[in-house]
Amino acid sequence: MNRIQLSSLAVITVLIVIAASCIYRSSRDSELASAPINSANKNETLTKKFDEDKKSDKGDFVVEYLKIKNSRYDEIDRQLKEVKLLEKAADKLNRSLILPYDIYLKTKDCGEANAYYDSDEHSVTVCYELMEHFYKVFRSVGKSDQKAYDKTFDAVRFAFLHEIGHALIDTYNLPITGNEEDAADRCSTFINLTELGEDGVNAVLAAADAFAIESKGNAPDKRNLADEHLLQEQRFYNSLCLIYGSSTKKYAYILNDNYLPKERAARCPSEYERTVDSWNDLLGRWRK
Ligand SMILES: [Zn+2]
Repeated sequence: MNRIQLSSLAVITVLIVIAASCIYRSSRDSELASAPINSANKNETLTKKFDEDKKSDKGDFVVEYLKIKNSRYDEIDRQLKEVKLLEKAADKLNRSLILPYDIYLKTKDCGEANAYYDSDEHSVTVCYELMEHFYKVFRSVGKSDQKAYDKTFDAVRFAFLHEIGHALIDTYNLPITGNEEDAADRCSTFINLTELGEDGVNAVLAAADAFAIESKGNAPDKRNLADEHLLQEQRFYNSLCLIYGSSTKKYAYILNDNYLPKERAARCPSEYERTVDSWNDLLGRWRK
């Protein structure tokens, strides 16, 4: 089992500060603006038809590898294809969810360390720059070359499923109260912990690890505080809380080794249960 390597964080003197943020572009506002508003009946009919259309399974998650422009990402690309990370995630999701159209899972070099969902293209993209960023983060705390790649792909699995969370919220028009970025984090954690077994746990742990390493020594500034994403430290504790909450016995070390304060840990089982119940409820009608 991978334990959080907090002890190794102390050795970091230089931190990579590329923000692993995500962009979420949505066309929903413009679609809503042009929706007919003159007839309640017409709206009702349209909504019904829309729901019926959505309920038939007309799409899949489709993996697309775009041509790499920069050869520095060749090794990441080779290993990514070897572990079949995208294919495994797509297969799992296709077995369980109805989609009204195809949603493309893409990797490419974007010119920035990022991952994003594009609602116009119906695509989720994780940039090679973000994978390289994760690799450098894990190398910076002394991970071996192969261990850093393994942790990178675990963290990428979390990032992909975070973006898929945005895609599901948009595609199914799911009601989300509160912060959508937090909801997307919880969606990723939910799918990882309930559907992907030990791989999923490792994904959430790797993401938590990356959040902790990235934030070490970086006091949040005004831009971070105003950002729609939670602070990296908060994402770290939230991730650990849900893992711990999923089994306080199996993951007792998270509390015992002081990764999580006991005041927060006490509420994690109910927080986990609420998160799982909520996402099961939201996705229930879209299950196959
Ligand atoms: Zn996001």
